Amino acid sequence: MPEPILQVRGLSVAYQSDRGPVLAVNSVELDVGPGEFLAIVGESGCGKSTLLFAIGQLLTPPAGVISGSVIFKGRDMVSLNDSELRAVRWSELSVVMQSAMNALNPVKSVAAQMADVCRAHTSMSKEEIRQRSAEVLRLVSIDPVHLDSYPHQLSGGMRQRAMIAMALLFTPDLVIMDEPTSALDVVAQRSLMMQIKELQRRLHFAVIFVTHDMSLVTHFSDRLMVMYAGQVVELGDTQQLFDRPLHPYSQGLFEAFPSVRGERRHLVGIPGSPPDLTEAFSGCGFAPRCPSAMPQCPSVAPELTDVRGRFVRCLLYTPGGGDGGGLGGGVGEHGPRHALGYAVIGRNKLRGGAAAR
Ligand code: SF4
Repeated sequence: MPEPILQVRGLSVAYQSDRGPVLAVNSVELDVGPGEFLAIVGESGCGKSTLLFAIGQLLTPPAGVISGSVIFKGRDMVSLNDSELRAVRWSELSVVMQSAMNALNPVKSVAAQMADVCRAHTSMSKEEIRQRSAEVLRLVSIDPVHLDSYPHQLSGGMRQRAMIAMALLFTPDLVIMDEPTSALDVVAQRSLMMQIKELQRRLHFAVIFVTHDMSLVTHFSDRLMVMYAGQVVELGDTQQLFDRPLHPYSQGLFEAFPSVRGERRHLVGIPGSPPDLTEAFSGCGFAPRCPSAMPQCPSVAPELTDVRGRFVRCLLYTPGGGDGGGLGGGVGEHGPRHALGYAVIGRNKLRGGAAAR
């Protein structure tokens, strides 16, 4: 199995507020392999975008990394200075922001914005910049005639594709995408996702894709990571997780989204709200909302546990943590708890095998 290009270890991020630090990302551990497509899902405020910004070292005060490391191709991004980060960004790691209309400069043409990037990161000549800019626009199926267009002259889908073209100017190894499809209609969303997958196939870059739209990424990602209250609560192969989510929160998320392929069914929301992150919770953060909660859940913090290659943070899957009940048809399907091969995860076990799918 190839070495991961990204290894996130014990990463915690806090926002300083008048009410004290808000722990938005809490001890996240994660590996991403070359060419892998990892989707991160969870409801608003779960820490998924903050995690992306921490990986790209794009956090600005009052947010800051308070512990942990982000090892990207052997270097710890957290310890790099500004000029070292500038050398990594765009050429090896690039970012596609949520709203292209806000991320693109409205008073500069697409060509001028691409030229800014090229001048900041390379010593390419004017002609080389123009030629490369045209090439990347063609890659995302935009006619290079639009190099001289301004963002308002492009459709929403074209603007988002232009953002992706800019991110691919120097063919990076990792592209992180923060809800790039959220402003698009469903047809444009699907077309953009197919384009991203095709580009990934041709150029072999890895993608970390943040979204709250489960039904969108389940068709396109290799692995799925579910976040809740700043923590990873489930991580595994997308198809397996989609077919049979193990964590009660993942189950609730899937029940709250319509299935594109499956039968019509009644959608059920998850009652309650996420915890107030200015206050530390001692046990499971999902306990007040969890239909499978047990008496020990509010006081015993579950650890991320390897359940036959799936990583789950729930006492139902922790040796000695549950009382044998709870998931009703979940745990029971696999027989006795000791037969599942539980292991609290080791740091070398976070990598998925799905990158080559
Ligand atoms: Fe629910 Fe308890 Fe599992 Fe938390 S640890 S998700 S409260 S069953």
